[in-house]
Amino acid sequence: MSVLIFLDQSEGHIKKNSFEAASYGAKVAEILSTDAEGIVLGNVKGDLAPLGEYGLKKIHNINNEALNILDAQVFAKVIADTAIATGAKVIIFSNNLSGKAIAPRLSARLKAGLVSGAVAVPDISNGFVVKKNVFSGKAFANVSVNTEIKIISLNPNSYQISQIQGIAEVVAMNATIDEPKIKVTAVNKIVGEVPLSEAELVISGGRGLKGGENWHLVTDLAKALGAATACSRAVADAHWRPHHEHVGQTGLAIAPNLYFAIGISGAIQHLAGVNRSKIIVVINKDPEAPFFKAADYGIVGDAFEVVPKITEAVKKLKGV
Ligand SMILES: Cc1cc2nc3c(=O)[nH]c(=O)nc-3n(C[C@H](O)[C@H](O)[C@H](O)COP(=O)(O)OP(=O)(O)OC[C@H]3O[C@@H](n4cnc5c(N)ncnc54)[C@H](O)[C@@H]3O)c2cc1C
Repeated sequence: MSVLIFLDQSEGHIKKNSFEAASYGAKVAEILSTDAEGIVLGNVKGDLAPLGEYGLKKIHNINNEALNILDAQVFAKVIADTAIATGAKVIIFSNNLSGKAIAPRLSARLKAGLVSGAVAVPDISNGFVVKKNVFSGKAFANVSVNTEIKIISLNPNSYQISQIQGIAEVVAMNATIDEPKIKVTAVNKIVGEVPLSEAELVISGGRGLKGGENWHLVTDLAKALGAATACSRAVADAHWRPHHEHVGQTGLAIAPNLYFAIGISGAIQHLAGVNRSKIIVVINKDPEAPFFKAADYGIVGDAFEVVPKITEAVKKLKGV
């Protein structure tokens, strides 16, 4: 019996969310008095052994070109085979795009109970109960998992990364890789920007900015802070910003350490995607804007006056 953690990689680099999943998995293994082991699919740059510092005793690496691009069906099969071969009884993912695609398929394959969007380690005092977010982060549910194999996907930024001194044993594994049912014909990557899904700081703008031509207010502040940029759906619908920046119920759900909302009303559908942010700062000229109810800090004022002052202050503080 072991705890198996899927370590998600992109272009040979392990993603930050995977370090959270690894730290979480190591804690779950400690609770269950067993070992935490990682699984890495595809070609990764550099040595995997140092990932032992996240509490992993072993890393199973299926170093195969065919696994460099995510195909959730293929990945689910390879992870299922590895879980069976290694006797894993708990399998952990980050609840990011890859985790959301793979975990349910793996769950069906292994007939394993899945808790998606977990926010705490399982309580094993009476069974195996995992706390998760429900209703777009407005409530919690405690889910009891009774299957022999259990799968958990951990909400990004809901578990602190912890590091210890340790080196993992890296085990190169072979796998039967199914012929993919989907074929990737093109990959269009957004380059040179902080990826929104992994960003710790996010500056976001709404219709209060009046038009795409004023977006320098958002990007200047984001640049000064080293933050990613986001927007409300109304902004993306108006083509002021691309849709991959749209956050909310129908956009990306994010949980950065700092979310800066400029000229956004705070409609419930917007909040659904950002209310797990650790600190929310709202700038709105309307003191009755609903967003203030969800804010940790609020500035009632005109974004066109307030934001340049904040940007200047950040630059001064950073000496840039
Ligand atoms: C099914 C469904 C799904 C949806 N999904 C999403 C979603 O995923 N994400 C999302 O964002 N929305 C979503 N929406 C839309 C949502 O309901 C709101 O319409 C949208 O979030 C409004 O965007 P906004 O706050 O930018 O614009 P507005 O509602 O127009 O608000 C603009 C705000 O800017 C303020 N303002 C104006 N001028 C200034 C100024 N100079 N300085 C400072 N503040 C100023 C105003 O006081 C106002 O509060 C969804 C709606 C539906 C029905």
